[in-house]
Amino acid sequence: MNKLSLIDWPALIAPNQVKQLQDDCDCACPSTTVLPELSFSRLGEGEVQLASDLQTLPLTDHQCGVWASSTNAPCVVNQSLYAILNSFATPQLISKVTPELWPMVARCTELGLLTLDQVKPSVQKSDVLVAWLHITNSCNLRCKYCYLAKTEEAMTAEVGRAAIDALLRSAELHHYPAIKLKFAGGEPSLNFPLILELQEYATTQAAQRGIRLESVVLSNGVGLTKPQLLQMQASGIELMISLDGMEKEQDAQRTFANGASSFRAVSNTIERAQALGTTPYISVTISGQTAAGLADLVGWLLERDLPFSFNFYRESKYSTNYKELELDETKIINGMKAAFRVIEANLPPRSLLGSLIDRSDLSVAHHKTCGVGENYLVIDPQGQIAKCHMEIERPITTIYTADPLAVIRAETSGIQNLLVEEKEDCRACQWKHWCTGGCSWATFRATGRYDTKSPNCQIYKALYPEAIRLEGLRLLRYGLPQIF
Ligand code: SF4
Ligand code: SF4
Repeated sequence: MNKLSLIDWPALIAPNQVKQLQDDCDCACPSTTVLPELSFSRLGEGEVQLASDLQTLPLTDHQCGVWASSTNAPCVVNQSLYAILNSFATPQLISKVTPELWPMVARCTELGLLTLDQVKPSVQKSDVLVAWLHITNSCNLRCKYCYLAKTEEAMTAEVGRAAIDALLRSAELHHYPAIKLKFAGGEPSLNFPLILELQEYATTQAAQRGIRLESVVLSNGVGLTKPQLLQMQASGIELMISLDGMEKEQDAQRTFANGASSFRAVSNTIERAQALGTTPYISVTISGQTAAGLADLVGWLLERDLPFSFNFYRESKYSTNYKELELDETKIINGMKAAFRVIEANLPPRSLLGSLIDRSDLSVAHHKTCGVGENYLVIDPQGQIAKCHMEIERPITTIYTADPLAVIRAETSGIQNLLVEEKEDCRACQWKHWCTGGCSWATFRATGRYDTKSPNCQIYKALYPEAIRLEGLRLLRYGLPQIF
């Protein structure tokens, strides 16, 4: 940043709140931290000062990215506003601040860049109760990192309806205005009639209770036909497809049971869906084996305007022998930086803050990585309920319990979804409210502890500044919303 005299540039560009389907990913959404909206008249008395955790990243000669990750996503400010913000390094009484600056003070306080002693952030609980419906245990692929011992077992319509009843019971008891069904497996399209039947049942039952319904199919994308895609569309079911790379990388870790390539089948389904007006959300699992090809895949996705999210490979007891999947830090960081360069050259209008780095969400401050133990039920084909899909073989309760969510919340064994402040290495970390220490299940598998940082910590730390820089450039490119 050079002189402080430039006023030709927008003073403040802030991100829209951009919660996208990434929040679904293959996990559950956490609660978030929010600041209240402020009108000038609500500034009142008291003192205003620069956020104590404000951080800065240069973007151009005239602008820099600024953020206070304890409360919000990064914004872009010009030199003039940057200087004004810094004039609040020493607390100032509101009554002494010149009235021309009040709009700026109000907006920057909403964004967490300034703090007012009478305005405190609050925790906003997720308002969606999420259920992973494991409608089949069979699959037509044999992915190296699959967390399942595949069988022919499938959920019946009777169990599926009872699962929806249980979900709605808990939703009513805990005052959730919305539920979300994730039709999963295995490959859920292998039990496709049940998807439609349960969606219809859930639509009727949720409407009778005044509860909003969201639904998504988590598919490997190899077998969805045109009629199935049309039926999903007509029923209001979203689609998420897993795709880990172009031919070489996808086929290195996701093949058919007979070893045949899956890339062409998946890309055909994606094209078929787009031709019908459905935009599938693409979930990309990055491993040591696929990181080098990530840039090519990202170019392919951006060319087709497909939303996507990156997730890191999680080792399970079934994948331990595939050493090539391990998250070699150098390979992952280099592969992701190459992918970020492709994104920089083709910046999309939508924000990628919630989807670029594994379980991190840089679009909003939060204290837990996911909703495990809080708003997430994983229901197996017999109606047994686990805390997390990675622990589906370790059920805690069943759909026949009066309030399954209460049982899941009260359960102290198994996966522990701690606050980031309870993870000893994360407490003092500058990224803690976006990172929250990573997936608890993966941390426990790697370290035998829940109260410590993610095994991917060094990867995260190397990539967060890059992700912020991308968001800053994206805000500059599209320029909205400009605040001043
Ligand atoms: S895992 Fe690492 S980057 Fe994430 S909050 Fe903990 S210390 Fe920070
Ligand atoms: S514990 Fe890990 S795998 Fe389970 S829902 Fe949370 S982030 Fe996903």
